[in-house]
Amino acid sequence: MARIIYADNAATTKLDIDAFEAMKPFLLQDYSNASQPYSFSRQAKKAIKEARAIIAKCVNAEPDEIYFTSGGTESDNWALNGITFVNHSCGAIITDNIEHHAILRTCESIEKRLYPVAYLNANSKGIVSVDELAQVITNKTALVSIMLANNEVGSIQPIKSLCEYAHSKGALFHTDAVQAVGHIPIDVKDLGVDMLSASAHKFNGPKGIGFLYIKKGTEIESYLNGGSQENGLRAGTENVASIVGMAVALKNNVEKLTDNMKYISSLEDGFMSLLSSMSIDYIRNGSENHIPGNINISIRGMDGEMILHRLDLMHIMISTGAACDTKNTKVSHVLKAIGVDESYIKGTIRISLSKDNTEDDVKCIVKALNTIVGKSNC
Ligand code: PLP
Repeated sequence: MARIIYADNAATTKLDIDAFEAMKPFLLQDYSNASQPYSFSRQAKKAIKEARAIIAKCVNAEPDEIYFTSGGTESDNWALNGITFVNHSCGAIITDNIEHHAILRTCESIEKRLYPVAYLNANSKGIVSVDELAQVITNKTALVSIMLANNEVGSIQPIKSLCEYAHSKGALFHTDAVQAVGHIPIDVKDLGVDMLSASAHKFNGPKGIGFLYIKKGTEIESYLNGGSQENGLRAGTENVASIVGMAVALKNNVEKLTDNMKYISSLEDGFMSLLSSMSIDYIRNGSENHIPGNINISIRGMDGEMILHRLDLMHIMISTGAACDTKNTKVSHVLKAIGVDESYIKGTIRISLSKDNTEDDVKCIVKALNTIVGKSNC
């Protein structure tokens, strides 16, 4: 098979080899149900406890504030629904118009239960401001949910200030940090958030596992009901191997965070300087303060999907926008919300680089882009 250049790391990442090795014994030897009282379950139980402690340390939480879920989607669904189930009547949720569909579709379903939801407008850089929040929040607001980093344009939100303001009005604060955990420093105590969602496959862990941080004392209903796992709040037999893999992947990423961020940013700078030397009419979307390696550009008069398929033929993997929704070929809600110019919007692609990419990858991608759009671009 030809070597592929994988530059869609905001969609998913390669499994960390240490994580893979750490998972194996829990699939093949210590495969017991961790909730059983016999000795065969001891290893699994111990591994879950250790993984919870490792993950907690990586985000500066306490171990009993980490709840394992099946990933970012479940964590987001739980955070929002769990609060509305406790705060039945008078509350409201405030979110914004550039959230991932895991939040937006959850809000739509919450609205169907006649629970009010308000949507803040992000600015042209994909940033939600405290001023916007201040105009909408009331002392009846139950929860504010603003993502830490956007999955399409990478913009990092001023979570600490937004959270402080929400708290000053008596509201709880949740952040979807799926694109941020393992990529930039995360300290839940410093951010002040009450809940934070994360997903392992975005930080070199396995797919189908994630966690929801819930600050001690936060009143929340369970979302999946059944057994008494996860302190009675999230039922279902523990996915031991994946929990272990997630912890190892996160620990490895967090230990090398500064170096990784520096390296990926240098690849990104190289990409942008090469791109600007080509005769391509493009604009860059998102904020200066963004997840390292997230490059979202719109090329005038082009079709992002055509570019994606042409690059695919050259063994280069990128995205046109939100990768979680392959059937959706419409212009993304994020690009519309931030007001990308009509003549550029359809030609949007997202290149998301990782620590596994090289300078050579960057050169190849820009060269390929120039072959596809360089001359025909008007
Ligand atoms: N939230 C954001 C910001 C995401 O980027 C994604 C996935 O792309 C999700 C939530 C959903 O996460 P998962 O794939 O783990 O369900």
